[in-house]
Amino acid sequence: MADDGTFIAGIDLGGTKILSLCLDATFKVVGRDLRETDAERGPEAVIESMVASALAAAGGRPLRAAGISTPGPSDPARGIVTTPPNLPGWHDVPLAALISERLGVPAWIENDANAAALAEHRLGAGRGTQHMVLVTLGTGIGGGLIFDGKLYHGASGAAGELGHMRLVPDGPLCGCGRHGCLEALASGRALGARAREIVEMQPDGILARLAAEAGEIDARLLEQAANAGDASAEAAIHYAGLQLGAGLTNIVDVFNPEMIVIGGGLRRLGERYVGVAQRVMRSEAFAQPAADVRVVEAELGDEAPALGAALMAQERVSRG
Ligand SMILES: [Zn+2]
Repeated sequence: MADDGTFIAGIDLGGTKILSLCLDATFKVVGRDLRETDAERGPEAVIESMVASALAAAGGRPLRAAGISTPGPSDPARGIVTTPPNLPGWHDVPLAALISERLGVPAWIENDANAAALAEHRLGAGRGTQHMVLVTLGTGIGGGLIFDGKLYHGASGAAGELGHMRLVPDGPLCGCGRHGCLEALASGRALGARAREIVEMQPDGILARLAAEAGEIDARLLEQAANAGDASAEAAIHYAGLQLGAGLTNIVDVFNPEMIVIGGGLRRLGERYVGVAQRVMRSEAFAQPAADVRVVEAELGDEAPALGAALMAQERVSRG
């Protein structure tokens, strides 16, 4: 990565797992380490684990810098993790400085969706584009914006919260405390909640039967029920697809991106979810931007945030 024979670490701090990658000058991953976060131990112990993980991934290779991908709200300019919902006890932790001190190299933080967007743009599905939007569809809905080839942070470093664009102001309550965000209408969490309602309303239905066998009610079960002919399950996924379509329409109308990259596990719901959403966007967004935008699947999978964090650190180092 740097041309002096040194390496860059990318550390992805998640609520349940810490993933560290060691990248060489050609962006090749030459070492990796995956371990439990055990977040209930609090910030000090988790930071020790992050350092140990980065060193294990490096395997004795000399590091030049470290990039850290963090969940939830953070202040990348100051290197501070503010209040991540999945990390109990964390409040305004100066993570970049603490990791930098312990590893003895410069370190920077970036939120996980932004880091993933950077990785998809530099190394994945978005290679060669100038204007790319990443939308990640999972338990929640996240996003990252690349404009003119650069990650867009906004004035406070908080840009790209695509899951919290409000579509139905008096709609269902969102995890962010407001009502009717895209995430509250079309995420894995929203679909799981809808599935539980269906089970309650139709205790003899296909979904209720599958739920009794599975013991757990989530979006995946909703899909199985739809495949088995449950009309309510089918309608619930279709509704989420329509809402996602409204979200994509807004993205296309506001940003006029060259490409929308779709990531996250929920995209596996396929035609009746992402397919429906794409058709809505193609017919409802302004004609020229809708005709021009390419919608593609993310290529980098679960390692995208760690890769993006390493790329970000490398770009900071070469900027000097
Ligand atoms: Zn929200």
